[in-house]
Amino acid sequence: MINFNVPPYTGKEIEYMKQAVENQKICGDGPFTRMCNEYIEELTKTTKCLLTTSCTHATEMAAFLIDIEEGDEVILPSYTFVSTANAFVLRGARAVFVDIRPDTMNIDETLIEDAITGRTKAIAPVHYAGVGCEMDTIMDIARRHNLAVVEDAAQGIMASYKGKALGTFGEFGCFSFHETKNLSMGEGGALLIREAKDIETAEILREKGTDRSKYYRGQVDKYRWQNQGSSYLPSDMNAAYLYAQLELAEEITQARLARWNQYLELLTPLARDGRIELPFIPDHCTHNAHMFYIKTKDMDERSRLIEHLKAKDILAVSHYVPLHSAPAGMKYGHFHGEDKYTTKESERILRLPMFYKLTADEVEYITDQIKEFYK
Ligand SMILES: *Cc1c(COP(=O)(O)O)cnc(C)c1O
Repeated sequence: MINFNVPPYTGKEIEYMKQAVENQKICGDGPFTRMCNEYIEELTKTTKCLLTTSCTHATEMAAFLIDIEEGDEVILPSYTFVSTANAFVLRGARAVFVDIRPDTMNIDETLIEDAITGRTKAIAPVHYAGVGCEMDTIMDIARRHNLAVVEDAAQGIMASYKGKALGTFGEFGCFSFHETKNLSMGEGGALLIREAKDIETAEILREKGTDRSKYYRGQVDKYRWQNQGSSYLPSDMNAAYLYAQLELAEEITQARLARWNQYLELLTPLARDGRIELPFIPDHCTHNAHMFYIKTKDMDERSRLIEHLKAKDILAVSHYVPLHSAPAGMKYGHFHGEDKYTTKESERILRLPMFYKLTADEVEYITDQIKEFYK
């Protein structure tokens, strides 16, 4: 059976986790957490990185830090994971969904401005499949309308837009290190902070509302309750697991890209014949091979292809059910403008197996079975 995803494992994770245990520092913000933060800061060239318990939590932190309040509106795509919306909805905001571009499945940047009202507080672009949204346009709109930008870069580590790392454009960017992502720590994420002025508030929020981070650095002699907060820091054992993968981030990304390019090459004849569509990467985007998908004619053809592949021991899967059509999406948000592509394209997308240790033989086998289906 070829699984859709196999969590990344490089071999050094256990050794580093053992070290974390031997350090007798298994709670948060130990040596491995610090090493991960610094590694990601260096990798992305951002001001500050704080490891979190998930991307969901990083986004919740961002919603707090940009002061989302009851009645605010946040503009985002409907074609995304629930957390992009939930983080803001939890603070009383309304989700305003706009359509996606069919080529990248990212928010259509040309539709954002029309959705802005007097209550709009932020834009939350999602870099789907690790392919950057049109950040120049989005940042320009945000500047002109005085809006915050929180990037859902859950799938975006090791990817960039015009040479700049995804997650570093907006005030805040959020990475995920869930087991389904390119680099993992089981459950986990990171909050990227662009402005130095936001670091202290973020550290307090993450440390239960206290200045314990300062206390650990020896900057204060006792820590006290400073502000609203929660517990958003992962155990140092989980950080140790992630650190092993950060060290091999380039190798993991290259391995994935090799399989991604192989899929593309082997499936191009089918696309040329108009049977399927293939993913599109804009020239100015460097992606990270987070996902390889094809688009079938419609949902019915997709269901039949999924069954065909399952019979050949291959797990291929669909993706998001648009949020605006889900019960909570209808309650906490609305779609602005026409749903020209969100529903239609979401019904056509089929994700093929993609993970670090996927082999060239497996990709060849999978594409052979797809070709057989279309024969
Ligand atoms: C995975 C994912 C999330 C959630 O990440 P967690 O770390 O599981 O909270 C959010 N948004 C997108 C786009 C994702 O792919």
